[in-house]
Amino acid sequence: MQLKGRTALVTGASRGIGRAIALSLAQEGADVAVNYVSSEGAAKEVVERILAMGRKAMLAQADVADYPDTYRMAQEVLKQFGHLDILINNAGINSDKTFVKMDHASWRKVLAINLDGVFNCTKVFIDQMLQQGWGRVVNITSVIGQIGNFGQANYAASKAGVAAMTKSLAKELAAKGITINAVAPGFIETEMVSGIPEKVQQKLLGQIPMGRFGKADEVSRACVYLCSSDGDYITGAELSINGGLFM
Ligand code: NAP
Repeated sequence: MQLKGRTALVTGASRGIGRAIALSLAQEGADVAVNYVSSEGAAKEVVERILAMGRKAMLAQADVADYPDTYRMAQEVLKQFGHLDILINNAGINSDKTFVKMDHASWRKVLAINLDGVFNCTKVFIDQMLQQGWGRVVNITSVIGQIGNFGQANYAASKAGVAAMTKSLAKELAAKGITINAVAPGFIETEMVSGIPEKVQQKLLGQIPMGRFGKADEVSRACVYLCSSDGDYITGAELSINGGLFM
């Protein structure tokens, strides 16, 4: 068990990639706080699965786009766990429209959750990580932030912003025992991808050298690697997990 005794918070852990990350961290021995915004039942199910593994787990409801709400959640996590070692900034949404049709509200909403959310969650835990002289932060970006995409100007900008922020924080915090990395998935089998029309899915598959979408576990194992001692010398990296879609 590579993460025995560690405590972690995964944002957006009620489903999809975040859920897989929470379960993988727990499988490796970490106690996990499961963040969600509205899917309480699904988040509870993740907490129960982690408790069944013999780890500590807690619900950590908050809208990551809301700084005061995120601060409140951090206080609850620190009270229950005593400290936080691992932060996975995974919560994210998309709201796709061509730029001509994209309104300001849709731009703001995606940036508020995907980019401001990473600022908010990192900000509320960083002082405590600095105090303990150890921390692992993994930000979930996207291949779309690396290559752009038709109808995804807001989403691509948010993920490219997180990638650049990751490198800046990595430089600031490298000497303090804290690593900050990004994991950039390609197309992974989650609700986000199942919502893509079948015709578009087939077109996408044709562009992926491995000829298939990725699995959430294939992303979560990379997060475990970056947070374990195997990843101790890695900071400021953006690890692509995309079946060869972009290289
Ligand atoms: P998903 O299945 O749609 O799940 C999104 C998660 O984020 C849910 O747990 C949701 O909570 C949570 N969330 C949404 N808004 C939130 C907010 N304001 N505050 C707190 N939590 C919030 O998404 P996914 O496909 O697993 O994607 C997870 C991450 O990977 C995202 O950052 C996404 O951009 C990135 N990614 C995904 C893919 C892919 O192919 N799926 C590819 C590249 C990158 P509720 O359930 O409570 O709503």
